[in-house]
Amino acid sequence: MFDIRSKRPLIIAGPCSAETEEQTLESCRRIAKTGMVDVLRAGIWKPRTKPGSFEGVGLKGLAWMSEARKQTGLPIGTEVATSKHVEAALAFGVDVIWVGARTTVNPFSVQDIADALKGSDVTVLIKNPMSPDIDLWGGAVARIMNAGIKSIGLIHRGFSAYGSSLYRNNPMWHLAIEMRSRFPELPMICDPSHIGGQRDYLLEIAQKSADLDYDGLIVESHICPDKAWSDASQQVTPDGLKELLESIVWRRPTTDSPAYQQALNKLRGQIDQIDGELFELLAQRMRVAEQIGLIKRDNNVAILQGGRWQSIVDRVVSQAAKLNVSEEFLKTVLEAIHLESINRQNRVMNSPKEVK
Ligand code: PEP
Ligand code: MN
Repeated sequence: MFDIRSKRPLIIAGPCSAETEEQTLESCRRIAKTGMVDVLRAGIWKPRTKPGSFEGVGLKGLAWMSEARKQTGLPIGTEVATSKHVEAALAFGVDVIWVGARTTVNPFSVQDIADALKGSDVTVLIKNPMSPDIDLWGGAVARIMNAGIKSIGLIHRGFSAYGSSLYRNNPMWHLAIEMRSRFPELPMICDPSHIGGQRDYLLEIAQKSADLDYDGLIVESHICPDKAWSDASQQVTPDGLKELLESIVWRRPTTDSPAYQQALNKLRGQIDQIDGELFELLAQRMRVAEQIGLIKRDNNVAILQGGRWQSIVDRVVSQAAKLNVSEEFLKTVLEAIHLESINRQNRVMNSPKEVK
């Protein structure tokens, strides 16, 4: 059995898809030669968004991956989406399988996979679902756990969102962090390739995951990325992979150094103090909002006045540069405060007037 905790950080790398025997073996050999990779990956069955794209080579790819394992001595991994895939992967003794983002969204599919996994000691990684729904992600984990699988890990590959943004998928780091606190015993592996969608973003995303104390990475690497049959723009050459892995600074979870502990405790004391003051002020602000609600109620005026809200946003956002915080952050905080203010006003406006 492959032990997912055998190394930290755990590095999984390989082409998005196995395309030909030659491309699979050459990619895997060169990736193994970097000496920095623990598990080889390649997609055999590819759930593509649109029909007509390359959907994977199927079973014969498993034979190529087995050969890659024989030649490099490294464990191999692939994605499964149905019980048939699981049976085939287990028959080839695949060491690591993962449930892809398009499969994690569907509890029937995950259950089908879990049923096929019963009695196996394979390592199973569960990617986050396409949608930012961690209950769904947690549900998939529970199904695999209930099947008796002992070696389980999580892969954070970002969430799809409507419209264009810098990255191919929105990382929403806070969701992965929440998932870690729900399943502290499970390693969290970052997939910078599918988050970024472009090789230029790999380092910044991978570094961020290292800063957040992730347990490893899964990175797409291909001997000739620009000619790849799937996900060409996010794949790197094996040399590019080596350079990437050498550039990442992995952090220690903590250290016993007394100087570090002392400095940290001092700063944490400041944070606790500021949080106390911050929330006291917010509570005060809510009490004022309630008073406004009472006046509006007594004068039969609507809660929301568009012009006023816009002027608050403009005023706060105009201070972003001076405060050295991002406009985006100020807007997010302000929106949360505004929502709570509206809820409070709503409550008092619909409370009965006092009888005088
Ligand atoms: C993959 O890892 O090749 C893949 C298809 O990923 P995801 O399920 O994250 O889209
Ligand atoms: Mn891919």
